[in-house]
Amino acid sequence: MTQNYRITLLPGDGIGPEIMAVAVDVLNVVGKKFDLQFEFTEALIGGAAIDAVGEPLPADTLNTCRQSDAVLLAAIGGYKWDSLPSNMRPEAGLLGLRAGLNLFANLRPAKILPQLIDSSTLKREIVEGVDIMVVRELTGGIYFGKPKGIFATETGEKRGVNTMAYTEAEIDRIGRVAFETAKKRSGKLCSVDKANVLEVSQLWRDRMTQLSAEYPDVELSHLYVDNAAMQLVRSPKQFDTIVTGNLFGDILSDAAAMLTGSIGMLPSASLGASAPGVYEPVHGSAPDIAGQDKANPLAQVLSAAMMLRYGLNQPVAAEFIEKAVLQVLEQGYRTGDIMSADMNLLGCKAMGELLIQTLEGRI
Ligand code: NAD
Repeated sequence: MTQNYRITLLPGDGIGPEIMAVAVDVLNVVGKKFDLQFEFTEALIGGAAIDAVGEPLPADTLNTCRQSDAVLLAAIGGYKWDSLPSNMRPEAGLLGLRAGLNLFANLRPAKILPQLIDSSTLKREIVEGVDIMVVRELTGGIYFGKPKGIFATETGEKRGVNTMAYTEAEIDRIGRVAFETAKKRSGKLCSVDKANVLEVSQLWRDRMTQLSAEYPDVELSHLYVDNAAMQLVRSPKQFDTIVTGNLFGDILSDAAAMLTGSIGMLPSASLGASAPGVYEPVHGSAPDIAGQDKANPLAQVLSAAMMLRYGLNQPVAAEFIEKAVLQVLEQGYRTGDIMSADMNLLGCKAMGELLIQTLEGRI
């Protein structure tokens, strides 16, 4: 029987529309093969929404997302909107989407693909076998805490303020996602904080330690964020699952991404308790290469695979896509960001066409 899914597409800005087009083609081919019918609705977010309707997250977009089974997002942002006030910038659309769908858990895998080991800036022996899942808290912490703003002091000097705050309930719910994730992987969870300096981190560490009593099969360790950053590049294989707050997770997941050779290869999932999840590449809108057919569409395609696995419960279709991606790499095809000697350089469109041919068994 055909399964029907309503998918909201948010192509956003920069390379977003180029890589989204590839992912949609891939989903259509996979849909035919596995009897899945996708009803795609495209909606505005980020700079594209600012240009069209004057705000980064129109109410229509949020409603469309809420009514769908899953949301596939590309990326937002670009130089053009950089000088707008922060609540009107493309990033505010992304933060609003996460808050509006209550997506408190961000899962970012950083797995080294054997075909791309030489794309990593680190030595082969350091990165070979790296398989890390960063579980980042997404709707709390310093990106949302109040007070926030730039205020005038009594002397007239300006003072910028942000507030890092977490309640016990916020820590517990992300902690549970992380312990459950670690349980399904190798059973090792490292909680990253700055408990030597920040009170909010002391509470974070206490709660994680208390929660660990409920998960006797998961081995919990703690690291300060500065040490974690160092260990990630010194000896990344020591990590399996990492759980951390919004700000530290933002930074560490990008560092983990670079271990794998290219940020253009990494998908992510943002999950809430009940609303549809948002599936998106880790990278941004890459305005430096937008419109030049140079973007790597594979993180977007792998995000569609994550959507099938975590959002639509279609793991076989997800694996089919993941295998096709590996096959294309195995055959020596690369976009510029992951290019190395003796490989065949492709643009975004050609990479997409090759993937389709692979999925259809034509090569
Ligand atoms: P970026 O990830 O867009 O780009 C960093 C570098 O990686 C650039 O050199 C870019 O060309 C390259 N790159 C990224 N994705 C690539 C891909 N798929 N294929 C090939 N090369 C790729 O980060 P940035 O330059 O810091 O930010 C650019 C814009 O993106 C900013 O406006 C930022 O706010 C926004 N941004 C959005 C998101 C998001 O939508 N989730 C995330 C990060 C940054």
